[in-house]
Amino acid sequence: MSDPSPDRPVRVGVTAWLRTLETHLGPTAMYTIQTPYVSALRAEGAVPLLLIPVTDAEAALDAVDGVLLSGGNDLEPSTYGAERHPRSQAADHERDAFEASLAAAAIAAGMPILAICRGMQSLNVALGGSLHQNVEEHVDRAGNHDRVDVPGDPVHTVVLEPGSRLAAIFGTDVVSVNSMHHQAIADPAPGLRVVGRHPESGLVEAVDLQTHPWCVAVQWHPEVMAGGAPGRLGLFRAFVDACRTFADSRPELGN
Ligand code: MN
Repeated sequence: MSDPSPDRPVRVGVTAWLRTLETHLGPTAMYTIQTPYVSALRAEGAVPLLLIPVTDAEAALDAVDGVLLSGGNDLEPSTYGAERHPRSQAADHERDAFEASLAAAAIAAGMPILAICRGMQSLNVALGGSLHQNVEEHVDRAGNHDRVDVPGDPVHTVVLEPGSRLAAIFGTDVVSVNSMHHQAIADPAPGLRVVGRHPESGLVEAVDLQTHPWCVAVQWHPEVMAGGAPGRLGLFRAFVDACRTFADSRPELGN
């Protein structure tokens, strides 16, 4: 086994979104990822890899040094014991099951996790929490958090828990963020600490896992915000740094 090299690549697995897209073959089922995740990780020197659902999530984790649970469609409500609301989107059961296994395995391994939007909801459900299926209807004073009309724009503030990892990364206890979600955490899972809230409604906008070396989840989309935005600046750098530390702590593969 060789000593860790500062040039060793840091590989970040990003969970894939199965979509049917129009191609020259006609409508084609494809495993996809939105390009801003890739751009944000490449900018920090990481090697982004697509994580495709497999039965053995631990085998997938062998290929990466960190996991980014990405955005996408709603989770299946029965996975958190709820009846389906008419606004809940069609579920991808394969993705739901894979992300639950992946999150559990990454937590057990102490591997860094950054969870974004659906990813935060997926992490919460994996650990036994529940979701609001339609925020505007179910959370007083929340208003419309589904501002896909202005994807990169700050549309509401988030008050961060003083002293939390996120507050340290951003260097402030209040950030303005974009918002492209109609669902959100209802009951946080055991172990998840709420570290960010929409101040008008108390809606959960960020959580972390205190017993884990680096597990941060946000309901907004930092990868779509401008590079210097207060709700993005430093987050991907901190995540990739944690992945590098994790990579340096594990045995070299193939030896
Ligand atoms: Mn929001």
